[in-house]
Amino acid sequence: MKLHKLLIFIVVLSIFSCATKEEDKKSNKVTKELTAENSFEFGVWITANNDRANEDYAQEFEKYKSAGIDEVLINTGTDPELLKRIVPIAKEEGLKVHAWIMTMNRPGDTIALQHPEWYAVSKEGKSCFDTRPYVGYYQWLCPTRKESRNHILGLVEGLAKVEGIESVHLDYIRFSDIFLPIGLLPKYDLVQDEELPEYDFCYCDVCVSEFEKIHHKNPREIENTAIDMEWKQFRLNAVRNVVNDAYKIAHKYNKNLTAAVFPYPEMADHMVRQRWDKWTIDEVYPMIYHGFYNEEIDWIGFATKQGVEDVKDKEIGVNTGIYMPPFKSSEEVKQAILLAKENGAKGVTFFDGPALTDDYLKTIKETKESLK
Ligand SMILES: [Zn+2]
Repeated sequence: MKLHKLLIFIVVLSIFSCATKEEDKKSNKVTKELTAENSFEFGVWITANNDRANEDYAQEFEKYKSAGIDEVLINTGTDPELLKRIVPIAKEEGLKVHAWIMTMNRPGDTIALQHPEWYAVSKEGKSCFDTRPYVGYYQWLCPTRKESRNHILGLVEGLAKVEGIESVHLDYIRFSDIFLPIGLLPKYDLVQDEELPEYDFCYCDVCVSEFEKIHHKNPREIENTAIDMEWKQFRLNAVRNVVNDAYKIAHKYNKNLTAAVFPYPEMADHMVRQRWDKWTIDEVYPMIYHGFYNEEIDWIGFATKQGVEDVKDKEIGVNTGIYMPPFKSSEEVKQAILLAKENGAKGVTFFDGPALTDDYLKTIKETKESLK
């Protein structure tokens, strides 16, 4: 009888303790959700240069801050010294700073240019070193070669060391576009109904031999590379490996890793061989640029949700990137912000800072107020 009572006591106790744990979990989750709810953040991408004075930057940052902007993502042309000069100015104005780097596409990189073999090679056998797809500034490096990877990771490290930044922010972390956004095709007078060899990379000797080691076939001899899943996966993995190594470097210096990516993972995979839901990364800033794809504003909500759902279990934050030129009114900008929020983004980021007119800045401020 005594034993029986003891057993009941133990059972009741363990049920109670389970319930408490469950409660704890719930309240933790609620706290986390509440924090996330309150911290919907606004950001701008900007490009800096050495010629501008500190006062100029201070003025620009003050303008953003007073409109409710929380963070700036700054392209310094991968110059840690310029970044070091600007970070304190932005922080003085109360802005967070991310160090934006052009990662695989390195136009005018004076070190890389001394090594022609570092550049990605097209299916036609032409190197980005001297044959640039679409535009002169497309100078893509091979993501597989040890030397080109180490060069890129070294640049990431240089930025990660800069005191006071939130993250190293990878841009162009992908292959050159196998398909251009549909809205841009007329500009280049192009039709892209299939994967075209001059826009298909990287068929360099190292990529080919590394692929052959795993799959025992030569991509240069594959009849239809567009439907060869191993060959595509090899390239998705090559980009992923650069990201995952960059993550380790950023975190070594107690910084986060973030990236500007294509609108949502399957679209990124299809257009530029980028599968960002498979990456080790803290936050992403998908460039949900509706004008590039001839989409309407509600598509911003659709694409945001698509990405948010894909990475929610990995706790990767999604910040919706918004491209200003196609907007026709402040009302539309407000609508885009609300769509991002309603569909699970943790913030919105505008491309770019200087494109924010006084009207837009006012709308951002008012919309932010309305979310409180
Ligand atoms: Zn290669």
